[in-house]
Amino acid sequence: MYYSDEIVEEIRAKSDIVGVISGYVSLKKKGSNHWGCCPFHNEKTPSFAVSENKQMYHCFGCGESGNVITFLMKYENYSFPEALRVLADRAGVQLPELEYSEEQKKRASRRQRLLDVNKDAATFFYYQLRKNPHGEVGLAYLRKRELTDETMKKFGLGYAGKNGGELVAYLRKKGYRDEEIRDAGVATFSEKNGLSSQFWNRVMFPIQDANHRVIGFGGRVMGDGEPKYLNSPETDIFDKRRNLYGLNYARTARAGNMILCEGYMDVIAMHQAGFSQAVASLGTAFTPEQAHLIHRYTEQVLLAYDSDGAGVKAALRAIGILRNEGLTAKVINMRPHKDPDEFMKALGREAFQERIDQAENSFFYEIRMLESNYNVKDPEERTKFHREIATRLCNFEEEVERENYLQAIAEKYYIGVDNLRKLVANYAAAGIAKPVERPKSGIQSKTAAQEGAKRAQKLLITWIADYPQIFPKIRPYISPADFTEELYAKVTERMFADLEKGNFQPAEIISTFEDEQSQKEAAELFFEKLPEMETTQEKEQALRDVILAVKRNSYEHFKQKQAERDINAITQVLEAKKALLALEKLRITLDE
Ligand SMILES: [Zn+2]
Repeated sequence: MYYSDEIVEEIRAKSDIVGVISGYVSLKKKGSNHWGCCPFHNEKTPSFAVSENKQMYHCFGCGESGNVITFLMKYENYSFPEALRVLADRAGVQLPELEYSEEQKKRASRRQRLLDVNKDAATFFYYQLRKNPHGEVGLAYLRKRELTDETMKKFGLGYAGKNGGELVAYLRKKGYRDEEIRDAGVATFSEKNGLSSQFWNRVMFPIQDANHRVIGFGGRVMGDGEPKYLNSPETDIFDKRRNLYGLNYARTARAGNMILCEGYMDVIAMHQAGFSQAVASLGTAFTPEQAHLIHRYTEQVLLAYDSDGAGVKAALRAIGILRNEGLTAKVINMRPHKDPDEFMKALGREAFQERIDQAENSFFYEIRMLESNYNVKDPEERTKFHREIATRLCNFEEEVERENYLQAIAEKYYIGVDNLRKLVANYAAAGIAKPVERPKSGIQSKTAAQEGAKRAQKLLITWIADYPQIFPKIRPYISPADFTEELYAKVTERMFADLEKGNFQPAEIISTFEDEQSQKEAAELFFEKLPEMETTQEKEQALRDVILAVKRNSYEHFKQKQAERDINAITQVLEAKKALLALEKLRITLDE
């Protein structure tokens, strides 16, 4: 942290979260929370809660969560010190001069240097395209792709000339050391050539993070060179799994959906046509981290992948990932054209909007693609096809959803609905469910168990935050070590210590985490949805189950460690076993 914990906490404590957020979102009090429409995703019915007691906010729609400081950082795109300064002014607190540790200074300045190199490289490429005669080939290419000057400017498109040494010379002249130029990913070093540009003879697409900072590049070769597209390597500032091309604009498009495309040119063509909610992955396959990132802004993703074989395969894979993230996916039919760029040129934006409106439900799409593997005129193949449909229907855990899909599919493919239902019931009873383009089942069940354990730990943290009176009762049996997720353990360590001192404030704990992602994850822990129960007795039972689940998981965790010959785990196992026996007999009361 740049400021001492004390001053951060003083400012946070003096900034009433309801007051601050009401300046941005209209809130209505209901129960113990204030509710409004979430400013971080598109919605019509309020699922954004601001808790006066906890001094925190949480969106039950998109999962955004945090305290008054993180709210300003997120909403206004402020850095931590900026948000703090605004709140200090508002609360009339005088901020001291910044305090940096040497280590922090070094780290912050290194990241900043790498960002600066990329920014200056982008400027260099930008002028090469426009001012250097060699750039004409690039400009001609982009004009042929029908990009307007305004679009080229918006995306900062540039050109890397045939002489790879020029960029390096330019950056050296700007005062960067060779090591910085290399570590920023814009040049490579070889014994033979020394330091030379990573890119040459390419049209350059600067890749920006959500805050418009250039973190890397994609380059499209001019002519027939290989590879056609080349990207910056991963660096300390460029993580391909956690960024999306176009997100810096798409995040504020508020179109109610995001369009996922395959390539940079697709994204640019879409934005030019007014679809500024388009994004693309960064030269690699779509990742779960990217799905998670999208989920911050929307619930629905429209896939606009190429209509060829590779595109279909990539789309099917992406559908699995989006579904796992809990996003709704639909597929845009681009035929007879290959990709959004071609489509837009041939048929224009109205026609594309129509295709968006008609986008196909991702499950129907999967089944339709599946059908092409079978000769359905042949009775035997047709049976196989139906069996395949049935196994996939088993994947819908919710009965209503499964039944709805079952009926729709039966009708669509002329299958007797009762027969299909019987088949599905048989498969479901046998535990047959076919993961669609997902990790192998072994991994999957392990993840399911891990997810269960994580959820129990989150629930317990929320229970204690909502009902601090239970803490003294369970404290002898539950310790921060039982929280097997590292971040959860950190949160509970602080939380338990604060509770023991009788001074527990969840919003304060959030501020002890440095990066935005940890702050969000920590905040979420205090807003896990507790089961809605009629009677206190039922509630107490639910709480007991959660405590036991956390302790059992901890027991298993340490047993595993013991098996791995971790000496310290032995005492933990014995302790956990004793605590489990005691907990089973313990009566927990929620005196309301
Ligand atoms: Zn939200």
